[in-house]
Amino acid sequence: MSEQDKKQRHQARQQKLKETVDKRVAEATKEQGIFMVLTGNGKGKSTAGYGTVLRCVGHGQKAAVVQFIKGQWPCGERNVLETLGVDFHVMGTGFTWNTQDKESDTAAAQKAWQQAKLLLQDKSLDLVMLDELTYMLTYGYIDSKEVAQAIANRPPMQHVIVTGRACHRDLTDIADTISEVRPTKHAFDSGIKARIGFDY
Ligand code: ATP
Ligand code: MG
Repeated sequence: MSEQDKKQRHQARQQKLKETVDKRVAEATKEQGIFMVLTGNGKGKSTAGYGTVLRCVGHGQKAAVVQFIKGQWPCGERNVLETLGVDFHVMGTGFTWNTQDKESDTAAAQKAWQQAKLLLQDKSLDLVMLDELTYMLTYGYIDSKEVAQAIANRPPMQHVIVTGRACHRDLTDIADTISEVRPTKHAFDSGIKARIGFDY
């Protein structure tokens, strides 16, 4: 095949691809809030969530975050995003991954969930991120059906991000976007410590 033929074939292929993509873009006409789940055992779920919060704020939109974890480790993203007007609610005292004291864990999780529910009714919020929520459902501290219902009934233009491993089916069933991060390799497995500024 001559160079000229190769060039023409390439152009024809690219043209066909462009037509397919243009058609699909033209077909995506719905404007609504997106519910995204970031799950899987690999590193990058919360990072991707906070990246989206930053994207939202960068366009002058309003976001809020609830962190469903023990609030002891510092959080680099929080330090920056709070100065940009993002409300952070951190599941506070009483939560004990170690002792697995079901009563105090449930109380702490429920308190954070009540806050999350208010955010999921707040029309002024463009994005609500529920970081590490999945574990609360796994342990039965918060009812998955109640969470699914609150997310389904949120203001129609509001985006929601849920992060955490092993996301409950009740949430994945109603999610619009689900990305699963796979741990092809993780530094921790070769004995490297979690580092401030990189891991948290
Ligand atoms: P990140 O906050 O870095 O985006 P993540 O949200 O995907 O991570 P989490 O399960 O929330 O992951 O864990 C948070 C912490 O655990 C981070 O310090 C991260 O580096 C570490 N981590 C994540 N995945 C793994 C893994 N597969 N093995 C060991 N440590 C991990
Ligand atoms: Mg995380």
